[in-house]
Amino acid sequence: MDCMEMKQSGIRAPEPRLDWALFLDIDGTLIEIAESPNAVKVPETLASTLVAAGQSLDGALAIVSGRTLDVIDILMAPLKPPAAGEHGAVIRLPDGSVWNAASELAVPAEWKQRVCRAAETWNGTVIEYKPYSIAAHFRQAPSYGPDVQRLFEAMVAENPNDFEVLRASMAFEVRHRDINKGAAVRELMKHAPFSGRVPVFVGDDVTDEDGFRVATELGGLGLHVGRSFGGKPSEVRRWLEAFRPNDAS
Ligand SMILES: [Mg+2]
Repeated sequence: MDCMEMKQSGIRAPEPRLDWALFLDIDGTLIEIAESPNAVKVPETLASTLVAAGQSLDGALAIVSGRTLDVIDILMAPLKPPAAGEHGAVIRLPDGSVWNAASELAVPAEWKQRVCRAAETWNGTVIEYKPYSIAAHFRQAPSYGPDVQRLFEAMVAENPNDFEVLRASMAFEVRHRDINKGAAVRELMKHAPFSGRVPVFVGDDVTDEDGFRVATELGGLGLHVGRSFGGKPSEVRRWLEAFRPNDAS
């Protein structure tokens, strides 16, 4: 870890401020990691906590996740906040319009077929075929981790300038290098009510490092769940409860 990363993410979570724009990852940040991505449990109070926090920030609260926008909406229901899905490949802007990355940035269809064939023998792995990326989760079958890694790295070796393999928590994902959470933060910060605010990105995983970096470049900060919240989404939720609309203003 270099010292820049320490500066971004080694700090204790500061007191909430009302001039922030909040960018929140979901898995491992707002909700606890489960055995598989489909098995997560969303706390009943999360929606009301996010509504109050969003109101206190004049709406400058966005979800930034590797999940698709459709799944984000299921997990956050009934909320439909500004959100970046698939690490920023699909972004719902504050006005509700949806921006999509260029279709050339999607992983080749042929790679999806190769993963599909290989996965027939990877019992217990969960493969997500998203419009722009492929993720393979092996939390329930850790022995297949090296096989997943080998195949993903072999595919990316065919076009390493454009694509990369990400190592997440008990998962690998292959995606285009131009699609990342930092680019999503940069895009959302161009739009009211985010523009002019101090960006604060909260995340737990390697894909969140891009979000930390851009939030810091734009004068804000990154908060790592492991280092700033003891690794506990419940602590992130408790911290979010301190964001309350300011009655005095
Ligand atoms: Mg996460």
